[in-house]
Amino acid sequence: MTDYAVRQQCLLESVTTDAFIAVNLEGSDPVSLRYLTGFTGEGALILSPAHALLLTDSRYTEQANQEVDDIQTVEGRAWSTKGLFEGLTKRNLKTITFASARASVYWYEELGKLGTLKLNPQRDPVAQLRCVKSDEELDHLRAAAKIADAALSELVPWIKVGMNEAEIALQLEMLIRRSDAEGIAFDINVSTGPNTALNHYNPFHHTTVLKSGDLLLFDFGANVLGYRSDITRTFVVGEASGKARKIYETVLRANCLAIDVIQAGMTGIDADAVARDYITDAGFGENFGHGLGHGIGLEVHETPGLSPLSKDTLETGMVVTVEPGIYLAGFGGVRIEDDVVITNTGCEVITAFPKEELISVG
Ligand code: ZN
Ligand code: ZN
Repeated sequence: MTDYAVRQQCLLESVTTDAFIAVNLEGSDPVSLRYLTGFTGEGALILSPAHALLLTDSRYTEQANQEVDDIQTVEGRAWSTKGLFEGLTKRNLKTITFASARASVYWYEELGKLGTLKLNPQRDPVAQLRCVKSDEELDHLRAAAKIADAALSELVPWIKVGMNEAEIALQLEMLIRRSDAEGIAFDINVSTGPNTALNHYNPFHHTTVLKSGDLLLFDFGANVLGYRSDITRTFVVGEASGKARKIYETVLRANCLAIDVIQAGMTGIDADAVARDYITDAGFGENFGHGLGHGIGLEVHETPGLSPLSKDTLETGMVVTVEPGIYLAGFGGVRIEDDVVITNTGCEVITAFPKEELISVG
């Protein structure tokens, strides 16, 4: 049995309706299709105990033939609604589970208009299956972390005062794309000065020039066969101020304290609290607004979450980020983010770029 067949079977065990469908329409759900079949194009998957069927159109038929085994492919223009409806009713599949978190209201209404299917929305059944990674998935994530580490190592000596964020981001992207990676994990964040306090910064939108004394933050990753690393490192351009050193040391300590104790059985709330309590005691609790971390895999933000609001408990084989940060508006921010594999006795840190001190660049 292939990995895909095992995943399909696991999914069907959690489904109480006649069938499960996953629909990737205009990029709505590439990961469920890829996870369950290996297919990376647009289409609709119908899974039932007796059927595994992939509906797509002529743009993707040959791609589906190359990527997918053991699943019948059906080509048709209206696969997302009419074709899907016919594919289900022809096989007497009447009650259908789908991921409501991945579907648009428009698609749901259009499918509903066609007839008597009983649609059963569940938040995201495939995402639950994806939390714990197989050995092969862990290898892809380790490779993605390694490529990110290597790209940053090659980039850092090249950086000079006077360069701007956008050209540095482009250079980092080129280094990743020249490697064995499938691509970058998400839009690269290179920020400097006060911009480092903006968590999801776009260097191509603002584009600031590096100045001596400014912080310089990189948040980025590589994508290996769909699996994404997510690493943040913060540097200083030239000489660091006492304030910059202080927040760097606080964030570093919070990162290390969390990594020291995170293991299977711990809740996302407790993991977050280890870092948050330390940062709060240091007087920066108000300046750490986001959660400590999140799962990574085929998506850059997955279950489980490590945050004060998390409902998750860590299990062996999950992969999460550990990314405490302190952000001072108008001054800048420091975040140190590592990717770790959860084990029974602790965690394996798979991002290896040095973090022990605030490194000076430029
Ligand atoms: Zn990140
Ligand atoms: Zn992250």
